[in-house]
Amino acid sequence: MQTPKPTNWQTALAEAFTSITELCTFLQLDPAQLQPASLHDNHFPLRVPLSFAQCMQKGNPHDPLLRQVLPVVDESVSYPGYTLDPVGDLQAAATVGVIHKYHARALLITTGGCAVHCRYCFRRNFPYAELQLSKSQQQTALAYLAQHTELSEVILSGGDPLLLHDGRLAELIAQINALPHIQRIRIHSRIPVVLPERITPELLQVLGASTQKIIVVLHANHAQELSPAVMQATQALAQQGILLLNQAVLLRQVNDNSEALCALSEQLLRCGVLPYYLHQLDKAVGTGHFEVPLATALALHAEMQALLPGFLVPKLVHEQAGAAHKLWLS
Ligand SMILES: *Cc1c(COP(=O)(O)O)cnc(C)c1O
Ligand code: SF4
Repeated sequence: MQTPKPTNWQTALAEAFTSITELCTFLQLDPAQLQPASLHDNHFPLRVPLSFAQCMQKGNPHDPLLRQVLPVVDESVSYPGYTLDPVGDLQAAATVGVIHKYHARALLITTGGCAVHCRYCFRRNFPYAELQLSKSQQQTALAYLAQHTELSEVILSGGDPLLLHDGRLAELIAQINALPHIQRIRIHSRIPVVLPERITPELLQVLGASTQKIIVVLHANHAQELSPAVMQATQALAQQGILLLNQAVLLRQVNDNSEALCALSEQLLRCGVLPYYLHQLDKAVGTGHFEVPLATALALHAEMQALLPGFLVPKLVHEQAGAAHKLWLS
C-alpha cells in the first residue's frame, strides 16, 4: 500500500517511520538481511521521515542513506577510545542551553529533538532534551548573549532548530536581532535535507525578516540525499539572501570513497550550497562501525583536492574537546 502524501510538515514529521519492519516493507527489504538492533530500551530509536526514505534505493540493503539511519547490532560493539561525550559539550555548557567553546560565537541548544535519528551522531548518548531551552531558560540564555559583547555570531543548534514552530523561531530571531554586537545568526539544520516540507513560505518569511545575516549550515552526507524537493527548498532559502553551506561526516560504507564525496560536492553546488566541513567521526559510544581511519580520510581528502575546484573541497576537520577551534586535518 502506498503511504498517503502528508499535508504539512508537522504531519510529515508525525508520520516518520519509527518501525524497522515498516521501513523495510517500504524499501522492499527483508529485515533478516540487515541485522537490525532490537528497539527495546533504545533511547535513540529509529526515526526517518518519508521524504528521506524516498531517496533510498528500494531493494538495496547497502543503501548509503539507509545505513545512516538503521539501528544495527554493531551499535552494541564497544570500541576502545569511544566515550559518551567525545566533544566535551557537557562540560562546555556556559549556562543552560548555551555552549560557548569558541571565540566570538556561541551555540544555543534550541531543542533536543531531530527530524531524523542519525546513528553516527555524537548526541545519541546525551540527555539532550534536558539541556534544551525551556521558554524561561531562553531568557537566561539571551541574557548571557547580551552580556557577552565579544560575541558576534549566534549558532542555533540542537537537536534541530527548525523543529521549533514559526512563532518560537520568529521570537528568538527578533530577540537576537535586538543585540547590537551580534552580526549574524547561523542555523545548523539537517531538516532542509530530510524534511524539505518544513521550508514553508511562512518559515521563509521568518528567516527573511532577520536584520542580521542568516547562514544555514545543512548536513548532507551523500548526493542521493539531495532530491529535487531538497533543491527547491535550498533555492527558496537562497532567495531570502541566506548563505548556504554544508557539513558532512565521513562515514564508513556511506561516503568513504572519492566518487561519492565529489558527487556530493557537485550536487551541493547544483543546490546552491557550498561544502564547508567534512568531519572526521566523533568517537561516541555506539558509532565505531562508522569510523574511517585517519590515513584513509587524509588520502580521500587529497583525492578531492586533485579532482575538484578549491571551492568544492570541504575542510577536513575534527572536533577536539578543550581545543580553541575545530582541528583542520589537512
Ligand atoms: C562547531 C562548533 C561551533 C562552530 O565552529 P565553526 O568552526 O565556526 O564552524 C561553535 N560552537 C560549538 C560548540 C561547535 O561545536
Ligand atoms: S540531525 Fe544532526 S543532531 Fe540530529 S541526529 Fe542527525 S546528526 Fe545528530
